[in-house]
Amino acid sequence: MLTVNAYAATSATGPLVPTTIERRDVGPHDVLIEIKYAGICHSDIHTVRGDWGPQSYPLVPGHEIAGIVTEVGSSVTRHAVGDRVGVGCMVNSCGECTNCCKGEEQYCLKGNTGTYGAVDRDGTTTQGGYSTHVVVTEDFVVTIPEGIELDVAAPLLCAGITTYSPLHHWGAGPGKKVAVVGLGGLGHMAVKIAHAMGADVTVLSQSLKKQEDGLRLGADHYYATNEPETFEQLAGTFDLIVNTVSATIDISAYLQLLALDGALVNVGAPAEPLPVNVFSLILGRRSFAGSAIGGIGETQEMLNFCAEHGLGAEIEVIPAEKINDAYERVLAADVRYRFVIDAATLR
Ligand code: NAP
Ligand code: ZN
Repeated sequence: MLTVNAYAATSATGPLVPTTIERRDVGPHDVLIEIKYAGICHSDIHTVRGDWGPQSYPLVPGHEIAGIVTEVGSSVTRHAVGDRVGVGCMVNSCGECTNCCKGEEQYCLKGNTGTYGAVDRDGTTTQGGYSTHVVVTEDFVVTIPEGIELDVAAPLLCAGITTYSPLHHWGAGPGKKVAVVGLGGLGHMAVKIAHAMGADVTVLSQSLKKQEDGLRLGADHYYATNEPETFEQLAGTFDLIVNTVSATIDISAYLQLLALDGALVNVGAPAEPLPVNVFSLILGRRSFAGSAIGGIGETQEMLNFCAEHGLGAEIEVIPAEKINDAYERVLAADVRYRFVIDAATLR
């Protein structure tokens, strides 16, 4: 066992505090990663605060991990000491069900093993990336291509893949009108990726505050949703809408912005249900769908795509002691556009 420094939540309401946790010995198929950077995802906050159900504490969040391999097990073939690697939202799955066999491990029929707060296959509770080291089975470790710095790569492991996957699946590309709702961690990556795929991209943000950023990130158009005329102006426009908002919104109003046969894909995961007026679907043969992260193969594909197109996250690197302040700023939609913890400050 390896005792490592970490930051943990000890309850749903209190601040995160410095602590130490144990990492398992490196097994034959494991790699030990020295974490360099860990992104702060809104899902960390939802989880810690119990939005998605009760948790056991202490809980070390963090599923946007970028680091360097420092040890490999005797049977490891995919990674070597010194490799630049990443770990996202899952660290295991059954590997045998229909979905795992298709490379869609995130939809494992037995449930994938989350990077934190999940029961691992050895019965222990997983602890995430707000720590200095992690031991992960090699199949759930991806390679960060040369050309993407580790700090801007970290958020790709969740925000990047969670937006790449539905954009790819629903065919974002030339001739497609794509809207991104919410310009936060996921939203800003959705804009960059959809633009790189060749789509015509529109940001739908609460206000005009981030307009300059949205256009700089690659959006062709930008509208404020606090202006009611936005919904009249854009009715029936989009082939694809990706909703990244962490709170409940009037989803039926957004469905009206879809063109015939358009799809609104929800990746935002608010604590409360999103009620839908079915007429906003019926009148336009529209779809309302959801999407969770992406498979391991697809995560590697996304990283390669980002390297090819020179994409990384827009980040604010923070020391560990600023994690609680960062949480408050994420909750206030005041993040530009991902906080990334410098793991060297975890002591
Ligand atoms: P984030 O950085 O906080 O971004 C969310 C954005 O939504 C905010 O920046 C804001 O953008 C908008 N927003 C927030 N509150 C709002 C409100 N009350 N009304 C309207 N708009 C609001 O969060 P994130 O890390 O991108 O995560 C977004 C959501 O995706 C979270 O619920 C997270 O748990 C979920 N998630 C899902 C998956 C998946 O696999 N499906 C993976 C990762 C995360 P504007 O200021 O531009 O309006
Ligand atoms: Zn996440």
